[in-house]
Amino acid sequence: MTTQVIVNARPWGGEAVDVEIDGGRITALTPTGAAAPPPDATVIDGAGRLLLPSFSDVHVHLDSTRVGLPFRPHSVPEPASLWAYIENDRLHWREAGASVAERATETLGRAIGHGMTLARSYAQVDADCRLERLEGVLAAREHHAERAGVQVVAFPQAGLLREPGVPELMDEALRLGADVVGGIDPCGLDGDPVRHLDVVFDLAQRYDRPIDIHLHEAGELGLFSTRLVLERIRAHGLRSRVTLAHAFALGMSPREQVLPVLDELATWDVALTTIAPGPREGLPVKDVVARGIRIGLGQDGQRDYWSPYGSTDMLDRTWQLAFTQGWRRDADIELGLAVASLGGRAVVDPADRGAEPLSGGQGVAEGDVADLVLVPGDTPTAAVMDRPGGRTVLRGGRVVADDGRLLP
Ligand SMILES: [Zn+2]
Repeated sequence: MTTQVIVNARPWGGEAVDVEIDGGRITALTPTGAAAPPPDATVIDGAGRLLLPSFSDVHVHLDSTRVGLPFRPHSVPEPASLWAYIENDRLHWREAGASVAERATETLGRAIGHGMTLARSYAQVDADCRLERLEGVLAAREHHAERAGVQVVAFPQAGLLREPGVPELMDEALRLGADVVGGIDPCGLDGDPVRHLDVVFDLAQRYDRPIDIHLHEAGELGLFSTRLVLERIRAHGLRSRVTLAHAFALGMSPREQVLPVLDELATWDVALTTIAPGPREGLPVKDVVARGIRIGLGQDGQRDYWSPYGSTDMLDRTWQLAFTQGWRRDADIELGLAVASLGGRAVVDPADRGAEPLSGGQGVAEGDVADLVLVPGDTPTAAVMDRPGGRTVLRGGRVVADDGRLLP
């Protein structure tokens, strides 16, 4: 096993150190220049850059991305209901001019170039696309297997009950290689939360897979769905097995209603993911973190038939999280970076959690996995504000991307 040494890097903006890596983990940090690297070591020049844990994008739709393709006008008609978005996507996704596999591979590659080494991606499964999108995302995962880990959610974007055959397709998706059972708005989309959750939890139990449910439902309805999910978790004893994506209701409801729900999520170790939406729907991130609830950040759909936003750069999304949370203090913005990196790792693997509460400064110590990114910048906050190029990305101590270029 080769030893790697990153020389002259500043963990979270601290003093310059040399970082020795063996077997994919950090084995020593020593002041820069205190000792020469072992003669057979691979030396990586930190060049005085910041050293941070690499990013994780745990709410991304690699199956719908159009990043890199010609920009197109947003075509969802008003009123823009969820179903209007679904129909707009159905009308156009086959016209992209590139296959799902090609588009997902391109977007994933760019994200890796920016410092991401772990993703949880949705792959839509429905009566229209059947398993075509899932197969595209699985191909992209295979293509970048050495550079990033990708967990794939079989995602019933158009509901489980509105059209025939979707539960059966979900079943097939899990047999084909999807890792996680998806669900969406049990009340708002399918209009039958009991049957919707029956299908989701039955698949999860039969295949022994975790669950990830999109909850766009607002206010009371969203809190109601959250409580229904918690009821199922209690009944099945599914601690640490469920993620709620978006959970807009937890951002927009009165605090006295939200805090008891957060306590219950903490009790059952239910994870949350946010895409840093507007301040109205944004999760109360500090309340979430203070309770030890796992929380990760994601890009959502990018430049696709849903949204013109998204750049594949998790530093952009970290900026958006900080901005929409109204953060200015360095410690808060560093918390955002921790959510965007270590937070997502814990969403994917509940055992992969560090000291709680989550904060900046973690993930670059002896014993930590050497999934790292070197970023130019005076301080971590400066890096979030500037989002500079010139990054070097390591997975398990191996350089997988340098200055945006992917290495074989
Ligand atoms: Zn989503």
